[in-house]
Amino acid sequence: MNQTIFQFFHWYYSPEGNLWNHAKDKAPWLASLGVTDVWLPPAYKSAKGVDEPGYAVYDLYDLGEFDQKGTVRTRYGTKQEYLDCIKTIKDNGMGVIADLVFNHKMGGDEKELVPVQKVSDENREEVISEPHQVEAHTRFTFPGRRGKYSDYVWDWHSFTGICEDGTIAALINEYGHGTWEPMLEDENGNFDYLMGNDIEFRNPNVREELKRWGEWYVETTGVTGFRMDAVKHINPDFFPDWLDHIKNHFQRDFFTIGEYWRNDVGPLLKFQEVTGHRIKLFDVPLHFNFYRASMEGIDFDMRAIFDNSLVKENPFEAITFVDNHDTQPLQSLESTVDYWFKPHAYAIIMLREAGIPCVFYPAVFEAKYVDDKDGEEIYVELNKIPVVEPMIKMRRDLCYGIQVEYFDDATIVGWTKQGERDKQLSGLAVLMSNGDEGEKWMSMGEKNAGRIMTDICGGRPERVTLNEKGEGMFKVNAGSVSVWVDERYRL
Ligand code: CA
Repeated sequence: MNQTIFQFFHWYYSPEGNLWNHAKDKAPWLASLGVTDVWLPPAYKSAKGVDEPGYAVYDLYDLGEFDQKGTVRTRYGTKQEYLDCIKTIKDNGMGVIADLVFNHKMGGDEKELVPVQKVSDENREEVISEPHQVEAHTRFTFPGRRGKYSDYVWDWHSFTGICEDGTIAALINEYGHGTWEPMLEDENGNFDYLMGNDIEFRNPNVREELKRWGEWYVETTGVTGFRMDAVKHINPDFFPDWLDHIKNHFQRDFFTIGEYWRNDVGPLLKFQEVTGHRIKLFDVPLHFNFYRASMEGIDFDMRAIFDNSLVKENPFEAITFVDNHDTQPLQSLESTVDYWFKPHAYAIIMLREAGIPCVFYPAVFEAKYVDDKDGEEIYVELNKIPVVEPMIKMRRDLCYGIQVEYFDDATIVGWTKQGERDKQLSGLAVLMSNGDEGEKWMSMGEKNAGRIMTDICGGRPERVTLNEKGEGMFKVNAGSVSVWVDERYRL
């Protein structure tokens, strides 16, 4: 069966709601659509309590169990609700992908006097102050947890850098002596530092603690995979070490995805190589191609939609997606694919051979929220994309067999899947336009001769009877996507 990941949250999912109960309720339905894996947001206590989605990590061991940061539950519910949610998802035959935030910690409990040197924000290799001492919240004792599960105290030796009064400062510890950890690229000089207290992976105690935590976390929750946050900002050397430890400890594989946020396939391929192909990556360049295509409309040459993408260069290790919680409106990396093009983009990730698609929550459940931008309150409404739900089913039922490409025109492109004998009614033909209405002569192969195809997505009224070679003239409306399936197929 084709794999489909579902990202079951968005940035603004209400803290008044309870995502764990919501995901638990929806699990049987997601499984019935054909979802195979559910990605859940960070489950541990945030430095901001319930006021942010979980990426401002305070305590990895607090899954909504201890009274810390003004709350027992997290933004998404209590520990017990989280465990029940995971169990229900797994009972419905799906995997659970946990969101691991290892790059930084926030909300330290106590201040320490620490030696630092300030660096330039644009070039973190450029030191802009003499070494000096400052008071910083770098000591994490987790008083609400009182040493349960782990008595490890994080202090300034566990961190490479901090942010003081808006300026980034490297900690002069015994591991780096004020230098950053090695990164694969020289973006911003060195992009080790992203936010908060940046974790020091050269410290062996840190690595041991994160391995112990990994054992505890998997044992406690039973998750089947990992989505690793901000991997671009972490010493790449850490990943094989940690992943192999967990794999060996549990004697099984964990489906692992990394978020390497870079609109350039070169660094993504390099990361996968140096981490020994243990980590699939989100296809960020493909997302940006979708974004650009949605902005440029008819001026975008659809033959270039896969240019520079991971799914083209390394299809077996690419997780394709249209939007996520970081690209949604008002978020830091805002680059939301315009609504008219979302059916095109979803057809490209859901109904083709290459890549494993990840469906974003609002595409199926919609999302409405308010946030401030430059002091102005903005209301956002992300509407459901009606074709996505049927596409999840068609991916499971029909998207099999030989794929033939028709990316031979700037505005009208398509492909066919010939289907497989043991998958009843399988095979399909997709045609999309970013301009005018049009048509294309496409083949589904001789074995499909005589089959009658109808458009299930794009509103074309006619039926196409395939000739003795399995060929037919498929049509598409202006700016639309047509998905042609066997007329006997029922969603
Ligand atoms: Ca880092």
